[in-house]
Amino acid sequence: MSGEGVEMTAAEGEVLRKDRGHQPLWVWVMVLTAYGHRCVYCDERPSQTLEHEAPLAGRAGRDIWWNLVPACDRCNSWKQKKSAAEWARDMKLHHAYPKAGFARHALPLRIVEGINDRVAHVQREIRDPARRQWFEHHYGQKRTPRLRREKHEEVQRCAEGMERYPFLPWESREIKPSTSHCMRVLCCGYQQDDAHPEFITLAEAEREDLRRMAYEKGWYLGDLIGNLLDRAVEEWRRSRRGGRGEKRSGDVNRDACARL
Ligand SMILES: [Zn+2]
Ligand SMILES: [Zn+2]
Repeated sequence: MSGEGVEMTAAEGEVLRKDRGHQPLWVWVMVLTAYGHRCVYCDERPSQTLEHEAPLAGRAGRDIWWNLVPACDRCNSWKQKKSAAEWARDMKLHHAYPKAGFARHALPLRIVEGINDRVAHVQREIRDPARRQWFEHHYGQKRTPRLRREKHEEVQRCAEGMERYPFLPWESREIKPSTSHCMRVLCCGYQQDDAHPEFITLAEAEREDLRRMAYEKGWYLGDLIGNLLDRAVEEWRRSRRGGRGEKRSGDVNRDACARL
């Protein structure tokens, strides 16, 4: 199951056997902030550890980012050397036959039933190339702390920032593609030579309202204005494409419906 649908050689991102468990900081932050910084198994506790969905002991298991999911320590120790699907199956059997020894501990049945879907969901999130690249750009150069507590502090800081912010930076447009730097418009794009600041004049009342709006949303004023502009320009582009018939008929209507 691991690696399914991911175009990647086994060697890419794989760490040597002796370095197992020593994933770089960007992998820690990328994986533990996924699924809203929660454990994907119990769906309740904060994520604390990089859990191998397909166990290392198994044939398919690898110590690579795409085999990692966010888990709490308790679930990690309960799951042991089973894949998520095997563990869920055994916990279900444990609920049906508590004395047969399928599992020593089990999560509530309603939680167990969602495990496979939640794992598939978080794997899609972790395998999103734009998201992954954003973490690599922002945390790839940072020293990986030795202590787990320090890694958790970085994860916590990142997760709190994400929670406060209403959009995900990797979903905003790139000023231009780059493999080495973050070029996202609503993140680091303003630092690039290709980004051109524009001067706008606002009346006092307008400015006050914009500032209040930004404050209420918890955004930076520049990001709020950028986001509003982005949406307006995107809509205008769409209407032009629609007008020139470059899109298949029906697309424009669908877009309009999606916005409602
Ligand atoms: Zn858990
Ligand atoms: Zn950035």
